[in-house]
Amino acid sequence: MDSTDQLPDLLSIRQTAALLGVHPETLRRWDAQGKLSARRVGPRGARRYAKRDVLRLAQRQEDRVRDAQRVVVEVARAISSSLDLHAVARTVVDAAVRVVGSDRCAIYLVSADRQMVEPLWGTDVKDPASAQSLFFANPIPVDALPLLSHTLRHPEPVVVDDTETHPLSNPELFRFFDTRTVINVGLRGTDGEVFAMMPFVWTGKPHTVREDDVFFAHSLAALAEVALSNARLFAQIEQERTRATIINDVVRDVNGGRDLGDTLGRAISSLVTQLDADDGSIFLADEQGTAMIGAAETRVIGQSRVGVVLPLAAAPNIARALALGEPLLVPTAEAAGDERAWFDSLQLQSSLYVPLLSQGRLVGIAFANYFKRTPQLLSNDKRFVAALADQCSLAIERVRLLDAVSARAAELEAVIAQMGEGVIITDREGRIVLVNDYAAQLHGTAVLEVAPEQYSAEYNLLRLDGTPYPPLELPLSGAVLKGESIRNAEWRIRRADGSEVIASGSATPITGADGTRLGAVLVVRDVTARRKLEAEKDQFLSVVSHELKTPLTTIKGQTELAKRRITRGLSPAEVLSSLDSVAKQVRRMEALIGDLLDIRRLETGSLPIDLAPHDLRVIVGEACERSQAMTDRHAVELRVQTDRPIVVNLDRHRIDQVLDNILSNAIKYSPDGGTILLELSARDGEALLRVHDQGIGIPEQGREHLFERFYRGANVRASEYGGLGIGLALSREIVVRHAGRLELETTGPEGTTFRLSLPVVSQSAVSA
Ligand code: ADP
Repeated sequence: MDSTDQLPDLLSIRQTAALLGVHPETLRRWDAQGKLSARRVGPRGARRYAKRDVLRLAQRQEDRVRDAQRVVVEVARAISSSLDLHAVARTVVDAAVRVVGSDRCAIYLVSADRQMVEPLWGTDVKDPASAQSLFFANPIPVDALPLLSHTLRHPEPVVVDDTETHPLSNPELFRFFDTRTVINVGLRGTDGEVFAMMPFVWTGKPHTVREDDVFFAHSLAALAEVALSNARLFAQIEQERTRATIINDVVRDVNGGRDLGDTLGRAISSLVTQLDADDGSIFLADEQGTAMIGAAETRVIGQSRVGVVLPLAAAPNIARALALGEPLLVPTAEAAGDERAWFDSLQLQSSLYVPLLSQGRLVGIAFANYFKRTPQLLSNDKRFVAALADQCSLAIERVRLLDAVSARAAELEAVIAQMGEGVIITDREGRIVLVNDYAAQLHGTAVLEVAPEQYSAEYNLLRLDGTPYPPLELPLSGAVLKGESIRNAEWRIRRADGSEVIASGSATPITGADGTRLGAVLVVRDVTARRKLEAEKDQFLSVVSHELKTPLTTIKGQTELAKRRITRGLSPAEVLSSLDSVAKQVRRMEALIGDLLDIRRLETGSLPIDLAPHDLRVIVGEACERSQAMTDRHAVELRVQTDRPIVVNLDRHRIDQVLDNILSNAIKYSPDGGTILLELSARDGEALLRVHDQGIGIPEQGREHLFERFYRGANVRASEYGGLGIGLALSREIVVRHAGRLELETTGPEGTTFRLSLPVVSQSAVSA
């Protein structure tokens, strides 16, 4: 080493000089002149020949490095906070021109098929305006420039120092862009393949490329490589995520869809959008799987494809795709072979055939069509298509299943709707989802979506004692919320119209095959009539016992009395009067029991009627006499409005029964006595008898039940008026059997009028 201190290391001058971009020519000249030889250039020589230049260069170098460092840090910071491909490219490119000092810089992405490079971002320092439109605006075929295909294979920086002479250059093309010197660097992805290029360009005159130009270009490219890789990865992830979302959407769509056409329409639209195709359609396999039938399309081109039949035998590509079990790309119309006509009619360049399989079974095929291009399908695109196809298959299977199920469900629903019992079904939360006709009628309403807490309020449910039914204690709530089965519970329903019914119901939880609770069902029926009947029966029994007990008491008393009178040796006449009243009570009991037997016969339809012609005037007259004999407080008066016989075909015994009934009622329900007026007339082939009393009348409430069995007016129940409530029912039934009518004509505080009409027969048939 030299002892001089001014130039610490002459050998480093060569390195520094080379590094700092002293033109190779100059270096060669210096070297030829021996200026760079440590042996031959001493400190003085060096000082004389090179020191000033080199130091100046060294200073510049230092500034540049410092500047570069700052820019790189800036860039690194900027790109580490961004995952937007364009923003990253822009930051890197802008920094690159500053650090390297080129006139232009750009980043081109290599297309998926590696045939093209496509500009991502570019910058032109001298002509910022034109930069985007010309040099950077168009994709360049890799084949058009040897430089590009070279970089695709060798990503390391390659220097085209002069585009007019360099072997990798295409002078004509570069001249067009005014490109004179280029450093082109390839950017490699994680797979080692070049995914982008970054050219640094000097325009106008050739630029002397120094080693540090290359070094900086390389460094910036490395920076871009990392940043863009990340951004690209992110973009891919984003795409995957979008696609995952789409698949989710499709899943939701197809699971929600009930109409196959709709569902398929949505599925094919998603597929077409995601594959950037121009058009698409779905065909479904026929029963035998030998032909495909058009089921959905994104738009109608010429004639609609829906309903079109494609026999597999005539469509080898479809058959191939199906055999393959994965998407098949038919890249050109020429390659379509037998399906060429199909391609031509739709004016397709290419088409992706996506087989739809479900559990290995052929369901159909989807087509994604391209009018003017042939798509490049990457492996993740294929995965996406496959996933989407799976969803389509599922959708088809599902809708077909639904169709089958809903046909069954419709039957079931019809059965439930028409059931002779009320059915209410809830979902798993207990919200009411079905109320059949009977249940709706029973409640006078059919509100759906009602939650358990609202059952009592919405449906107006009461306990039997009339207090509000706590909703969560209702059988249906118990079934759906606690899984309990509750049988034959009873409650009351107060309808909106004010009427009240008694309901009896059983609630059962509904569980799926796997044991999960799906909801609950309540079967409910109206037991009002039954409960009423039971109440009536109770009342009837107590009335009958009472009615039978009264004469029995008399009989018992009179018998005792007769015994005592005989023992005491009283006269037979006195004994006879006791026996008379015994006989009277026995007749009363007989009549009672007779009525009861008759009502029973009426129920069974075995009440015999023996018709014979009679003059009604005679029959009514006798009935009047009978009833007058029973009372001295009433005057029974008959007015017959004709002199001629009123001949009616009748069962003497039964009509007597009817008249006795009406007349005894008239007497019984006129406690203050009065006149009982009978008016008998005949007109238009009809005999009419009106029986009018001056009694207590019949209260309006319940009047419509007057002729029903066991019905007794509200004013006579639990009072001194005895009776079973079967007289009028029996009477009307007998009259109806005579083709006549028995009706209440008027009633009120002034009394009651019943009207009896019977058909008359011709005079000649009157019996003696
Ligand atoms: P009952 O044994 O109660 O008399 P009926 O069938 O003969 O049974 O009559 C039914 C009801 O009709 C009676 O309970 C009474 O309320 C009413 N009713 C019948 N006839 C008369 C009448 N003439 N005046 C007032 N109410 C009557």
